[in-house]
Amino acid sequence: MVIKPMIRSNMCMNAHPEGCEKEVLDQISYVSSQPSFQGPKNVLVIGASTGYGLASRIVAAFGAGANTFGVSFEREPSAKRTGTMGYYSNETLEHEAKAKGLIAESINGDAFSHEVKAETAEKVKSLMGKVDLVVYSLASPVRKDPDSDTTFRSVLKPIGQTYTAKSINPQTGEISETSIEPANEDEIEQTVRVMGGDDWKLWIEALKNADVLTDDVTTIAYSYIGPDVTKAVYRDGTIGQAKAHLENTALELNDRLKTGGGRAYVSVNKALVTRASAVIPVVPLYLALLFKIMKEKNLHEGCIEQMYRMFTSRLYSNSPETDEKGRIRMDDWELKQEVQDEVNALWPRVNSDNINELGDLEAYNRDFLKLHGFGRDDVDYEADIDTQLRL
Ligand code: NAD
Repeated sequence: MVIKPMIRSNMCMNAHPEGCEKEVLDQISYVSSQPSFQGPKNVLVIGASTGYGLASRIVAAFGAGANTFGVSFEREPSAKRTGTMGYYSNETLEHEAKAKGLIAESINGDAFSHEVKAETAEKVKSLMGKVDLVVYSLASPVRKDPDSDTTFRSVLKPIGQTYTAKSINPQTGEISETSIEPANEDEIEQTVRVMGGDDWKLWIEALKNADVLTDDVTTIAYSYIGPDVTKAVYRDGTIGQAKAHLENTALELNDRLKTGGGRAYVSVNKALVTRASAVIPVVPLYLALLFKIMKEKNLHEGCIEQMYRMFTSRLYSNSPETDEKGRIRMDDWELKQEVQDEVNALWPRVNSDNINELGDLEAYNRDFLKLHGFGRDDVDYEADIDTQLRL
């Protein structure tokens, strides 16, 4: 079939197999062009198919020569419908890693369930024995509690007061004011149950009980803080509560693992276009401004550059530099004073007429399309292709 992007409410409902394959090959080429490093040997990535998890897996495999096992929740293609981009990313990455003689396998299923945890532990044991790095990079709007029938749903809302700010429709470039009503206690609680540290802790317990963690295992999860313009809805909002919970879980896990020489970290990463961030109000407009400023200052990074820098200059350096709360700060360039001063100066001025002059909406939209394998110059989007990859 001929595959064109189907976009609804800032979400792309399909993916282009060849474009997704090329996106992963580009990330692999980037890492292969950088110096290799002494890093992990056997890695489990939970949330491995897109965004920061995918980039972490590529850096571990192609930068440090690690065997990798990935857990993700993606749709397989059928004759009439494409798979999701993460499906094609997994296929491509595993094909390329195996060609280099590395172990690269995965499970497609609900990472929040006990069953997927048990199956992962079993497969990891038979394939690699033990893992010395566990990356936790899930982003999901819902989580079914494995011990009850409760399904928790996360919301992106401010706490305490209504949040009113500019927001953009990235497809039309139209900027308007949006207001979001504050969350109630139940919504805050449910968001923490989905995106906080509960499930990360359950994973580490399950893997430890199954004896598939090395004594000196490292585990890392990803967080975000962000700028003043998104503070009320992000860091001071419901998701910020969940991130604070995740960060506290890192401290708790670190205490538990350090007796054997292990460690647990949270890395605060830069805001980037991923499936998860595209649906956060205000974020697309912030990113359109931020990207232009960071590119002008030669500070711009994508997921793969961020993760390569995180692994080489922090996680696998002699002693990772952390902030006062023990967090690795990969948002150091995003939050540079000179960058944020410019964001703050542009924010009140930006409108539908001047967005293309003050910001780089085109780059935002290009990155968004590329996430799904669209918008590349080297793919013929008029060609009739199969929904399966031919590797
Ligand atoms: P993403 O949407 O690109 O990736 C999410 C991954 O989770 C995918 O592999 C998906 O398959 C998997 N997943 C979701 N639900 C699942 C389930 N039930 N079972 C198994 N797998 C499941 O997200 P991302 O933006 O890379 O975010 C990853 C982490 O990084 C999140 O904690 C996020 O908050 C954090 N982070 C993101 C940004 C950003 O700007 N995107 C910035 C800083 C930190």
